Amino acid sequence: MTTALVWFRRDLRLHDNEALATAAAADSLLPVYVVDPREYGERPYGGRDSFRFEKTGAHRARFRCESLSDLRASLRERDSELVVREGLPEDVLPELARAVGADVVSMHTWPTPEERGVEAAVKARLREAGVEIRRKWGHTLYHINDLPTPYTDISDTYTSFRKAVERDASVREQVNTPTLPPLPDAVDAVDVGSVPTPVALLGGDVSPTDADERGVLPFEGGESAALARVESYVWDADRLREYKQTRNGLLGEGYSSKFSPWLNEGCLSPRYVHDEVRRYEELRVENDSTYWLLFELIWRDFFQFQAAKHGGTLFTRPGIRGRHDIDWRTDERAFERWAAGETGIPFVDANMRELNETAFMSNRGRQNVASFLANNLRLDWRRGAAYFETRLVDYDPCSNYGNWAYIAGVGNDSRDRYFNIVKQARKYDTDAEYVTHWLPELDPLPPEFAHEPWTLSRDEQAEYGVELGVDYPEPMVDLEQSYQKLR
Ligand SMILES: Cc1cc2nc3c(=O)[nH]c(=O)nc-3n(C[C@H](O)[C@H](O)[C@H](O)COP(=O)(O)OP(=O)(O)OC[C@H]3O[C@@H](n4cnc5c(N)ncnc54)[C@H](O)[C@@H]3O)c2cc1C
Repeated sequence: MTTALVWFRRDLRLHDNEALATAAAADSLLPVYVVDPREYGERPYGGRDSFRFEKTGAHRARFRCESLSDLRASLRERDSELVVREGLPEDVLPELARAVGADVVSMHTWPTPEERGVEAAVKARLREAGVEIRRKWGHTLYHINDLPTPYTDISDTYTSFRKAVERDASVREQVNTPTLPPLPDAVDAVDVGSVPTPVALLGGDVSPTDADERGVLPFEGGESAALARVESYVWDADRLREYKQTRNGLLGEGYSSKFSPWLNEGCLSPRYVHDEVRRYEELRVENDSTYWLLFELIWRDFFQFQAAKHGGTLFTRPGIRGRHDIDWRTDERAFERWAAGETGIPFVDANMRELNETAFMSNRGRQNVASFLANNLRLDWRRGAAYFETRLVDYDPCSNYGNWAYIAGVGNDSRDRYFNIVKQARKYDTDAEYVTHWLPELDPLPPEFAHEPWTLSRDEQAEYGVELGVDYPEPMVDLEQSYQKLR
């Protein structure tokens, strides 16, 4: 008789879950989730006291709690259970393994330093207790063992990486959802615990996280909501056929898939998305849009494998390119204006306000606000990335720090790249519909002024009833001058 314990981490799903399927081969199985207090509250960046930031904001905490409730409900439907414990996984897991007499603990592994650190501690403690450990890789489209080269040798350039995997690797089949064995007999002695609330996770002063109706989606956590989103985006609304044309949008639920929060919390497997795209191609249409969704999932893989390759260097200020030559500034007030969406540059402010209100921002928005902080303001890019870490409902360490480093010129792009914010605003928000959606104070302005209110004369300000410095901030930098410095 074998007893297994499956440790759910950021893999809160039953479908295509190899850690679960492996554990389900045992005669009895105890599914466990551990609420690790190190993931909540204020922490020093990188463990050292460089600057402090909140690890998890209210929206992601809510999303996680909903995901846990959904997982527990699905397990209960299968006569199983999700035991939820608060504490350090390295303490909790050996204790539970002992309580139910588990021989083996099955888990997924991630490539990032914090996750690896926890995992190493868990492994050491389980070994001491004589419990076998089975680790699985399960959050990318391509499996790490199927890459054309060892991950340590992958290209640091996206295009070469993509071409190599497209040519020489294939996406594995999904792992079937297993029939679950019964709970261990000794489960009666185990307190199953309750799924935490966001307030319990974050402390008493959490602000309410009711969905802001101006947001793109309410983003309900959980595998059920994830599968429903795939169904609605791909099949019901039939948006996949035009994804490549719409993906740079800013408003509404349909311009892009919005799969990211579910992918990152593990409620959705990228291989499931892949298989749905292939099914859609067979049944409806195969075109550049269907390909492009997979192209973007390969970006996601790229940053995961980059993190595996470069480890903690990805999170350092000079980054993987060792850029010690950039003179990063410290200016708390400037950082706060950026974070609050009060820079006086409408396209930046609208995006930051969307992030602050809803925990989401489009890819186009992310690129521009990151470029503004790192390039125009030259503030330490890691401050911006850490702010995103707190706020984003879809935060993922590899995608977040990888994209930030890329834009800040310390990451995977060998060119120094910056965005011309006003040009971008005019191109992607021609009628200023997006900026006025989030900055209603600019509503009275014609679109050309809504993107550049600083070009209004005093008389024009009076005519439109928008006074700079009163109704909306003066710009905190002269954009043109800051571009001159970068050229
Ligand atoms: C500064 C910055 C920070 C970012 N931080 C994160 C983050 O913490 N978590 C995160 O998931 N994405 C991050 N991204 C990438 C991208 O903005 C989001 O994945 C995307 O906006 C999510 O919306 P979607 O699911 O509708 O994307 P879609 O356009 O529908 O794309 C489908 C999927 O492809 C993946 N993807 C798309 N673009 C990228 C990309 N550039 N890098 C990695 N994966 C990508 C995502 O998993 C996404 O869900 C960041 C981008 C920038 C520029």
